[in-house]
Parts: sequence; structure tokens; C-alpha cells
Amino acid sequence: MKESLIDRLLMYFIKEDPRYEDVVLPKSLEEKRLLLRGMINVREPHEIPEEILSLEDQLLQTELQEKKITDVSTFPNQVTVWKGDITTLKCDAIVNACNAYLLGCFIPNHHCIDNQIHTYAGIRMRLTCNEIMQGKTLLNGEAVVTPGYNLPCKYVFQTVGPQIQHEVTLKDKEDLKACYLHSLEEASKKKLKSIAFPCISTGVYGFPKKLACKIAVQTTLDYLRHHQTSIEKVVFNVFTEEDEYYYEQICKNQTIN
Ligand code: ADP
Repeated sequence: MKESLIDRLLMYFIKEDPRYEDVVLPKSLEEKRLLLRGMINVREPHEIPEEILSLEDQLLQTELQEKKITDVSTFPNQVTVWKGDITTLKCDAIVNACNAYLLGCFIPNHHCIDNQIHTYAGIRMRLTCNEIMQGKTLLNGEAVVTPGYNLPCKYVFQTVGPQIQHEVTLKDKEDLKACYLHSLEEASKKKLKSIAFPCISTGVYGFPKKLACKIAVQTTLDYLRHHQTSIEKVVFNVFTEEDEYYYEQICKNQTIN
């Protein structure tokens, strides 16, 4: 069933784009899946038949059922540090660390969070982002809301973190803070109960991890302390051991040096 969905999707994309004329289909399921992911990663957000989108939905829903999903409503504390893949979190909103164009990552099979989120949400997410953005770009710290589509979360808050050029400037710190603040405000406005943050800007965008952690935790705790909010669970979703260490430390002591 999964393989036939992948085959049908591959056939569509090979026909759609003349660059794929000479593509030889790999034999293994894993290689075919990777080829499909890469083709979807590089695909511009132009029109596509609903039938193809629905085939992709079926594939992604089948894959979702094979994954271990973590429901954040079962976490006992208001603030939790959790290590793992954000696309497996069942919660009201997850936050995506995007670039200013907001269309997702166009590098085939890239390891960034933006690529992972768009891949498992599906093509519908890029189409929606494109409709919202209409060729414009977002400023650092701003956030745009889209549905989660085939992800287990309801919404994805698409936010743009600062990209560090040489040294971290005051503006970079303010911009990172704004990513967290705007997402928390948006979650409250929508009366959401749970939100999961990745370590925004600390991958490809090069923000120092320890400082980013301080800003993320302080901004969030300040917000929770000083605002009436519907938010019952905040998840700091770490992905690397280094981030896990900083977040565990700061959440234990509420401060790191
Ligand atoms: P940025 O461009 O904002 O630096 P990256 O995707 O390079 O974005 O990294 C942001 C953070 O997301 C990094 O801490 C990285 O380890 C983490 N990350 C990457 N993939 C995932 C994922 N699937 N789930 C959660 N966090 C992830």
C-alpha cells in the first residue's frame, strides 16, 4: 500500500518536471521514499491536482501511524524539556524555525527542522505559505500561523529567527526573543493549551546555543508569570545533547552562567 502510493506519486512528479526525464527509479522502498522527499522539497508551490495531494495525505497518514507519537497533554509540568523530533509531537502548536521566504527548505533531503516539518506536513503547507506570503518576506521575529496538515499538531507557527553573521548583536537577541514572544501571544490569542518550541536559530543560523537557551527560557517564563493565558503546557523541544544539557540546567536552576 505504502509502496504503491510512493510509486504513483513518483510517476506524477517525474512526468510533471522535464528535468526528471532520465531519472531511473531505485529498487528499494527507502531509496524511492528519499527520491520522492527530495522531489517534493525542490518543487515550487505551483498548482497541483487535488488527487495528488490526497495521495500524499494517505502516504503521510500511513507513515504517521508507524511513528511513536508523544502527546504533550500527558506531561505533568507546565514547562517540560523534551528531546526528539518535533514532527512526532501531538500538541496544539509547534513552532517552525523558517527562513524569511517562509516556503520551507528547497535543499533536497536537508536535515533542517524546516525541511522536516514541511516534509511531514505535506505539500499543502508550502502552498498555504505561498498564498499567505505572495512573494513577500517576513521580518525576523514575526510569526505566521498555518494548519499542521498531516502532522499530529493542530497548528504550525512559522517564525523567522535571526541569522548570525559574525557576533551576536543586541538586535539578534531582541529578534530571537520576539520569536518566542510572538508565538506565545499567538497561542494565547487562539486560546491554545500547548505549544512546543525548537531551539530556534541554533542550527544553520548559528546562534550560540547557550545564549539562545537563556533567551528562550527567560522570555517564556516571564510571559507565563505576567500574563493570563490559556497555555497549560510549554515544551522546549531539544534535538542535540548540548541543547538538552543547557535546557535541563536552566530549567533546574532557572539560570545558567
Ligand atoms: P535554524 O536555521 O533556525 O538554525 P535549524 O533547522 O538548522 O534552523 O536548527 C534549529 C534547531 O532545530 C537546532 O537546534 C536543530 O538541532 C533543531 N532540529 C533539527 N531538526 C529537528 C527536529 N526534527 N525536531 C526538533 N528539532 C530539530
